[in-house]
Parts: sequence; C-alpha cells; structure tokens
Amino acid sequence: TIKTAAGTPGGIERTFIAVKLDGVQRGLVSEIIGRFERKGYKLVAIKSVVPSRPIAEAHYGDLRARPFFKGLVDYMTSGRAPVIAMVWEGPDVIRQGRRIIGATNPMDAQPGSIRGDFTLTVGRNIIHGSDSFESATFEIGLWFDPEEVYNWRFTNEEWVVSQN
Ligand code: GDP
Ligand code: MG
Repeated sequence: TIKTAAGTPGGIERTFIAVKLDGVQRGLVSEIIGRFERKGYKLVAIKSVVPSRPIAEAHYGDLRARPFFKGLVDYMTSGRAPVIAMVWEGPDVIRQGRRIIGATNPMDAQPGSIRGDFTLTVGRNIIHGSDSFESATFEIGLWFDPEEVYNWRFTNEEWVVSQN
C-alpha cells in the first residue's frame, strides 16, 4: 500500500510516466526505463498503447486553450508508434521523476536529464511525467484499470531504502 499522500516530501508515491511515440521511434524505451530502474524506483504497471482521442484530450486537459493543443492530441493519437505508459513507485517519485525527465523545453533541460541528454524541441521531448500528486492520481486512473497496477515488494528493499 502507498503510505503517504500529497505534500509529504520523501513519502512513497506513484507517478504516471509515458514514453511518447517519438521516444519509442527513437529506440529510447530501455534507456528511459533504465534510468528510473537504476535510481531504485519500482515499476508497478506498464503497457504499450495508442491512446484514444478522449484519453489524449483528458490527459492534456490543462492545455486545452493552448494553440498547440489540437496538434498535440493529433500527434499522440496518430498511431505512428504506440506510447509506453507506466506507473513508477517510490520515495518522492513524482517530483524526482520530473527532475529525471528535465524541463519541458529541451533548451532549458539540464544535461543529465532525459530531455537534456536526448531531445532538441518541445514537440519531440519524448517523455511525459505527472507534475503533482493530483495529476499523478488523475493520470494513473485515466490510463490504467486498477487491476493493471500491481503491488509488489523488492526483496532487496532494505538495501535501497533505509528506515530513517
Ligand atoms: P510537460 O509536463 O513538461 O510535458 O509540459 P506541459 O504539461 O507544459 O506540456 C505538455 C506537452 O505539450 C509537452 O511535453 C510538449 O510535448 C507539448 N508542448 C508544450 N508546450 C508546447 C509548445 O509550445 N509547442 C508545442 N508544439 N508543444 C508543446
Ligand atoms: Mg505537463
């Protein structure tokens, strides 16, 4: 079970991470999964999916008024490649996931971040990560049925996460 909720820094959380179709086309799925895995985060759900228009529109609902919204939804639903949708779990994973991913605009993303290391333009920034507890909860529920998210324990957890 997830022990901690919004606003508890360092608490065990879940976040929605997706390799967008440009990341899939570029063969960066394993690189991206590897970065979260090596950090110590736990993969609790994963699937390959071409989102429906209602799912893509809801996913980017906060951007509905922006000029690039229709193009973004057209792109995500194009089926030119699937999206790799995931749920990752661990301490502070929502905020840390955003740091691992880097700034939205690749020209502002730090080297060492995924977008900083692999991307050049905002329309091809290869990855999505939830930006808050509220959006993580919404996005996980939007993309996954509850039974697709599996609770499990690392056998080596005590060697990765200390109790103090
Ligand atoms: P994110 O949370 O870092 O992914 O950024 P946002 O939530 O602000 O935007 C969602 C996605 O919309 C971004 O990752 C980009 O793929 C796309 N996007 C954001 N701003 C722009 C823009 O100015 N132009 C275009 N073409 N796409 C954008
Ligand atoms: Mg966003």
